[in-house]
Amino acid sequence: VSGRSGTEVSSWRRRFEETCRERGIRVTPQRLALYEALAADTGHPTAEVLLARLRPQLPSLSPASVYRILDSLEAEGLVRRVSTPDGVSRYDANTGPHQHLVCRVCGKIADVEDDALAGLRLPASNPAGFTAETFDIRIVGVCAPCRSKERSNR
Ligand SMILES: [Zn+2]
Ligand SMILES: [Zn+2]
Repeated sequence: VSGRSGTEVSSWRRRFEETCRERGIRVTPQRLALYEALAADTGHPTAEVLLARLRPQLPSLSPASVYRILDSLEAEGLVRRVSTPDGVSRYDANTGPHQHLVCRVCGKIADVEDDALAGLRLPASNPAGFTAETFDIRIVGVCAPCRSKERSNR
């Protein structure tokens, strides 16, 4: 698992708990565990991956509750859902503005923050009646581990 340090994860968790408290959102142990597992993983895991990771500590956690919790966290703007061409949703605890680097070999998704991307202008209302609000850029390529594997297989 590529991920954030323990210190980072605890500060993300503190901020999450604060936001929930401010908005009167109940923080259940399952919600907190799920958020924490997501915050620790910068690879944009699927709900299934998160479930498998949390099962040992939360044996009663069902797939249905993982989906329900992720849905409500997304609706509250506390996590971001990243859609993929294969249709399987991936999740992201980073809700700040950023775009995604997608490895076409292993499917890993990494965050990228870049001033040039952040400064892109949205298209004016075109076609007529359409109002652009945000953009979601996927930059497809090969991650470093996959590239070195490709090299050594040659
Ligand atoms: Zn890769
Ligand atoms: Zn992301």
